[in-house]
Order: sequence, then C-alpha cells, then structure tokens
Amino acid sequence: MELVSLSISGAPIITMDPHRRVIKDGAVVIQDNTIAYVGKAAELHRMPQAEFEIDANGTVVLPGLIDTHVHLAQALLRGCADDTSLIDWLQKFVWPLQGNFEGEDGRVSSELCMLEMIESGTTTFLESLLHSRYGFDGIAESVQRSGMRGILSKTVMGLPGYGTEQSIMHPGMIEDAETCLREVEAHFKRWNGAANGRIRVWYGARSLGGCTPELYKLIASGAKRLGTGVTMHLSEVQEDVRYAKKQFGRMPAEFMDQVGLVGPNVVFAHGVWLTEKEWQILARKEASVAHCPSSNMKLASGIAKVPEMMQAGVNVGLGCDGGPSNNCYDLVREMKAASLLQKARLLDPLVMRAELVLEMATIKGAKALGLQKEIGSIEVGKKADLILISIRKPHLTPAFNPVSHLVYTAQGSDVETVIIDGEIVMENRIVKTLNEEEIIRNANERGAKLLERTGIDLSPKWVLH
Ligand SMILES: [Zn+2]
Repeated sequence: MELVSLSISGAPIITMDPHRRVIKDGAVVIQDNTIAYVGKAAELHRMPQAEFEIDANGTVVLPGLIDTHVHLAQALLRGCADDTSLIDWLQKFVWPLQGNFEGEDGRVSSELCMLEMIESGTTTFLESLLHSRYGFDGIAESVQRSGMRGILSKTVMGLPGYGTEQSIMHPGMIEDAETCLREVEAHFKRWNGAANGRIRVWYGARSLGGCTPELYKLIASGAKRLGTGVTMHLSEVQEDVRYAKKQFGRMPAEFMDQVGLVGPNVVFAHGVWLTEKEWQILARKEASVAHCPSSNMKLASGIAKVPEMMQAGVNVGLGCDGGPSNNCYDLVREMKAASLLQKARLLDPLVMRAELVLEMATIKGAKALGLQKEIGSIEVGKKADLILISIRKPHLTPAFNPVSHLVYTAQGSDVETVIIDGEIVMENRIVKTLNEEEIIRNANERGAKLLERTGIDLSPKWVLH
C-alpha cells in the first residue's frame, strides 16, 4: 500500500499552520509519508504527476485529530459502568472487569477502539495506562497494523490505592514497581520508534495513591534517561486534592513538581481541580493537560477551568478517555462538548470559540505529545496525517464556515477518508487496515465472556420483556 505520491484537491484546506490559513479550492500533495505541497489547486500543475489522486469535492481537508487521553483496553467495557461516580466506578466496575482480562481481550479491545478512532478522524492518540495483563506486545502489533500513530504508556505502580491509603484495587490489576519499571524499558527498546516512527512508548504513572513519592522520582529519572514522556491522571476528582493535602501537605501539582514530574514531556489527564497556583507551575514547566469534558460530565467529576488554565499559559489538548466514562472515542463530538460546557459555565459565548477548540484537537494536542514539529497541521515537511470530512449532508448544509461546522455540527461519522503517515487508512468510510466485521464479532464475544467471568449484572433497570 506504499504510496509514492498522492494528491488531494477540490476542497477547502484548513491548514492549522502558524497563520491558520484556510485555502479555498486547495490541494495537498504527499510524497511518501511527508507533505510536499499545500496551496491552491490551480498551482498543482507545477508539481510532479501524482500516482494517486483524490477528488476531495464535497469535503473539508484538515489535519488528523489528536486524542491526548485514551484507554484502549476500556473499549470492551463500553456502557459497563454508567451513572456512578469515579471511585465507585473504578472499584465496582472498571477494575474488576479489567482485572479479569484474559488472553486476547486487551488486543481485541484496542482494535475496537482504534477502529472507532479511525472512523471518527483521530489519527494519533496517547494511551495512558496499559497494565501488563492486557498484553503490551499484542496491542503494539495492532497499532502497527492499524496504521495509526500511537503513544503507548505502560502502567507504573507500587501501591494498590487511588485517592486513599486503603488497598482498593482489584487483585488482577496489581503490579509491583520493579517489574513495571523493567517492563517500560523492555517495551521502549522493542517498540519506541517502530512502525516507521508511528509507535512511541511512555511511562503511565498511576494516580495519587498508586505510587510512592520515591517511585514517582524513579519514573521522572527513567523518562529523562530514555528521553521519553510520562502521562498521569491528576486532580480528576476532589478526592485527589484531599489525598495530596493529607499525605503530602500540598496540592496535587505542587507535589508532582516536588518529585520532578512536571515538565514538557508530561501530560496530565483531566486537571479538573487544579488551582491557579498549580496552573502557573504547569505553565512554567511547560507540562500539558488532556481535557476530557464528556468523561468529567458523565462521572460528575467537575468542570475543568480550561479557558482560565489556557490564559495562565497551560497547553491543553482534548481526550475522549474511555468506553465506560465517555462512552465513545469520537473526538469530533468531544470538540462540541468542550466548547459548550465552558460557555454555559462562564455565561460567556466568546470563551472556547470554534477556532480554539479545533486547535486543541490538532496543533495543541500535537504540542502536548511533543510532536508539534511532525504533526498537528498541514504544512510542507510535516508527516502526512490528514482527514477529509464530508460537508455534503443535510445537517452540514449550508456550509459557509467549515471551522464552525467541524466543532458545532459535524459528528465523527462524517469523516470520509483518513490518511496517516501518507497511507490511506480509510477511504470513503472503508477502513483498509483492520477487519471491521471480525473485530466487532470478537469484541461482542469477548465482552460477554468478560462480564460473565466478572459476575457484574448489567441487565436493564426496566423489566425485560
Ligand atoms: Zn483516564
């Protein structure tokens, strides 16, 4: 499927370049995996003939979306933990289910998740917590095959708690610190830079209550030595703040700074309860936040003060989180949620404008992952990760302002074609790299068996007839 050259023309191009150019009647030329030309279609004749040509008429072309907080292994848990708050959600549903993963469960869940991400225009993701029992190698092989660009973070933990001193984690989820650290290094050696650089390996530090201060320091020094990143859930719920104050006498981000885990290579998921002082630490140390509005709303975790956080200088990307918290991996829908939530909170329609939200889903997301020189915009020399979204549908008509449509009107299923690293991964809604029918069948079978093993009753609250 290696393309020598590909040209796309006949559509507006939302470049997300430093000038934020939107090119009417635009064209993009891809040479191997790199963008070789972005400009007017009328100038295309100056470029060499393309081996393949895509007529993008009726669509808008934009950079592939970047999801900065995803749980691949939770796609199999979709809809398995509704209408409950985070700690109960973890203890009663998510941890027992994930602690009962067997064999190919992790791989099948990841493939299901990637299928959904591709079909809704996500081209790059940051997976935040891969426990050993999900099978890291199987998942990495699936990422390789899927064609996606993915950062896989191996869980590092030393304590079985979360936001409490008590041991609350399901036994099937518990790992020891030494093994975790060793496994990160082994996965890093084997997979970092694999699949033509599409796969990266990071540290996935467990939340407060899951690591000792010494372990956080080891993660920070390990990441520095390997030259890689760290991601972690931080200040997602009020329990995080209570725990940090009680255990360490500090706010969560102040504590993370103390153990050396705030830096440009760090992405904190959620950050709902971060304070002004903590935003300043994150801004000064150039750490990023992955904002997950649907997950925060559904779990009643709170509303992250995203506009204020960005005003303080913090880089913020967007995340879908997981199958039991969102309950989908559609970043297009997430854009709308992110915007509307803040407008309603601040009673101000000017906060979280469509343009800003699209930046969060593209160039700001790329910055969070340290990949802003490679992806996040359509510019000559960058990796060819781009998507074509249809605007020829009733709910997208008339289409005066494509940026407005992408944030307020479109849905993931409007994405028609997805190109990652120069490869056409989905064309006219047909994913070429993964077998959709087989993945859905496997996921249904494995999901049912997993529920049975775990003994969780998910029958409807209403009487079944
Ligand atoms: Zn999460």
